[in-house]
Amino acid sequence: MNIQFFECSTKFDSDFIERTLIDIACIESGMLTKNKIDNKKKFFDFINLKKGIPIAIPYIPEILDSNSIFKIELSDYSNIIFGKKSEKYIGTKLSYSTNLFVSNYKIKSQYRIIIDNYIKEILDTKFKISQLKNKYKTIGAFQTRNIPHLGHEKIIEMMLDHCDLVVINPILGPKKPGDLNTERLKFIYNNILKSRFNNRILFIPLRANMFYAGPREALHHTLIREWLGFSHFSVGRDHAGSDNFYRPEEAKNNLKRYQDLFNIKILYHNGAYFCKSCNKIILKGSCKHNFYELKEVSGSKLRNCLKSYKTYEYASKDVQDWSKQNIKTLY
Ligand SMILES: [Zn+2]
Repeated sequence: MNIQFFECSTKFDSDFIERTLIDIACIESGMLTKNKIDNKKKFFDFINLKKGIPIAIPYIPEILDSNSIFKIELSDYSNIIFGKKSEKYIGTKLSYSTNLFVSNYKIKSQYRIIIDNYIKEILDTKFKISQLKNKYKTIGAFQTRNIPHLGHEKIIEMMLDHCDLVVINPILGPKKPGDLNTERLKFIYNNILKSRFNNRILFIPLRANMFYAGPREALHHTLIREWLGFSHFSVGRDHAGSDNFYRPEEAKNNLKRYQDLFNIKILYHNGAYFCKSCNKIILKGSCKHNFYELKEVSGSKLRNCLKSYKTYEYASKDVQDWSKQNIKTLY
């Protein structure tokens, strides 16, 4: 198609541009090469969730030139990636800003530098995992980007029953106000929690975008962790979902249907709770007590307690003391 035909009047915000640069890096690094969409037909092939998330590169004249453009309309985009009635869902809003996409592209030089840095970060993560494989036979990836409460500690404990090492492996997209500072989070895991787990945990983030595509993204994340070289990956309730858009068990049930597709082992759990009868933190389903005895362990309650210098009953004292002392640089 002739690009002059598309007088691009869309104004793209900086977060969307950054997401696009990250997506391009994910494709060019090799991690998501199979997910690259260069024509409309290929996009529709992704209707089957087992391929993960299709990555189409929007036509943003500010960052790239292209002489080959195709269209994907909002209704098709949201329906294929996120499911029915998802045009207003957060995942669609974050990842769709124009109906024009490029088959091929040449990145403008000032953006090429940024993309190359992201590629370096992705390959660096893969390299670190490959180095760790010399020392550890089994390495599990735990995706979380929150200040750890006792629920997270319980999930790590469960993973360590199956893996020699657990890598806290958050996905880092464009930074938004209110996001935790990654270096601070790294400090909490590597300096405060590590000794509690006999030095069998490490914090290594991954540069990539979140889509909040629930069951489809659970599969996508699994394929990514397999590419990075992990032997195990944990998936809990409502993995990569938002706003209760997907049913809590959907991601897990979907992955179980496709488990023959990958070699990486999935460690499923149903979320961590405080059981009043056991008088301790448990993973749901691991004790015989019924749901009415379980109390939710909540990341947002922990965050609110820290901000008001209170103590949350279901998070470790050392983590909370350090977080309160460093609250000004935590976000
Ligand atoms: Zn119990």
